Amino acid sequence: SRAERDTSADEQRRREQILAGAQERYYEHPMQIQRGWRHHLVDTTGRAYVDLVNNVAGLGHGHPGVADAVDRQIRILNTNSRFLYHELAEYSERLLALLPPDSPLDTVMLVNSGSEAVDLALRLVQAATGRKTVVALREAYHGWTTAGDAVTTSAYDNPYALDTRPEWVHVADVPNRFRGTYRGAAEDRSVGARYAADLGADLDRLARRGRPAAGFICESVLGNAGGVLLPEGYLADAYARVRAAGGLCIADEVQVGFGRTGSGFWGFERSAVIPDLIAIAKPMGNGFPIGGVITSRAVADALTSQGQFFSSTGGNPLSCRVGLAVLDAMEAEGTQRNAREIGRRLAAGFRALAERHGIIGPIHGEGLYLGVELVRDRDTLEPAAQEAAAICERLRELGVIVLTTSERSNVLKVKPPLCITAESADYAVAALDRVLTEGW
Ligand code: PMP
Repeated sequence: SRAERDTSADEQRRREQILAGAQERYYEHPMQIQRGWRHHLVDTTGRAYVDLVNNVAGLGHGHPGVADAVDRQIRILNTNSRFLYHELAEYSERLLALLPPDSPLDTVMLVNSGSEAVDLALRLVQAATGRKTVVALREAYHGWTTAGDAVTTSAYDNPYALDTRPEWVHVADVPNRFRGTYRGAAEDRSVGARYAADLGADLDRLARRGRPAAGFICESVLGNAGGVLLPEGYLADAYARVRAAGGLCIADEVQVGFGRTGSGFWGFERSAVIPDLIAIAKPMGNGFPIGGVITSRAVADALTSQGQFFSSTGGNPLSCRVGLAVLDAMEAEGTQRNAREIGRRLAAGFRALAERHGIIGPIHGEGLYLGVELVRDRDTLEPAAQEAAAICERLRELGVIVLTTSERSNVLKVKPPLCITAESADYAVAALDRVLTEGW
């Protein structure tokens, strides 16, 4: 066993020589991660951290069930999806069985990532409606492909200036009841209704200009904004208006699906709606690249107007076996229940801290998708972005990995592996308390 040493500076130099400048990395002085186990990461010096950010590793790092599935299946068969083998149908049926009982969705298309899933969903709504325009919300992230990037409206992520965004994208107001156009308490149903009415007015305007909407895409909980929950009634109202205008509704569940919110398996269940298309990825493979779109046969079959659809590795026997192993483990290990219970505990911990630390503003999210918004003033909500970055650096020194998100980079995003324990959750809250008490 080789002596543990801090190789992070060497590794950082090496990366800077060969990677593009736009390729993001975390921290001013990043540690070099050597291994992961459950909700922990361990660096090359042997230091262990509580991992509050890896939502792809939904089951936790180094999951033995997933490792066994890869090992077994890659030795047996791995071929492209144009051959007949049973794993593809088995996995697709399992995914469909996870939908609410009244869901009419019956068709699955598998790809390799969230960006591909979103890209395919966009093509599907355009093919199925014969229209081009897609409505996306402000401050959203939906992926890096050309189409996914076009509907990515967040200033932080998106390289398009507003005036060069492709003409087929219409950007609608983001329904953030904390700092958006309309504000109000969680139980104030008029907030969601007003945002939805504005969306309706946008849809009318688009139709009048000869650009009727093919579809509407949004996250079922606003992940990029830091887990901001949609206002009461918004999504049902928005979906009804999109459908009345002849469009289709895409739920981007890449971040918030698969039990993360704890209350349901899907983020959209919070709003008692069923989308026309669901884009899924991240936790499906627990780090193995899998993505997909779940939709209806009528929508999926519209793609035949564009020729054949085929992804070389999407839906292959290996990724399907991994997907099945992930679903088995999620059930056996009760990850959704843990998300609900530990999520409640974490949120209560953050709320208690807010009573003593004025920098804590709104606390967003549900289950294990939480956002702790840091502000310089609770009335003006002036973002505490530099403070948030410094707090993350200090938390890292204390053994907690958490990072910032949102348009203003002032929200600590808390989306750990779903296996996180009460003990580690308490440790993370205590560490944040210490940083806010001692300074950063
Ligand atoms: N949609 C959302 C909501 C996402 O957060 C992401 C990734 N952060 C994507 C799509 C794209 O997924 P991927 O990185 O797997 O391409």
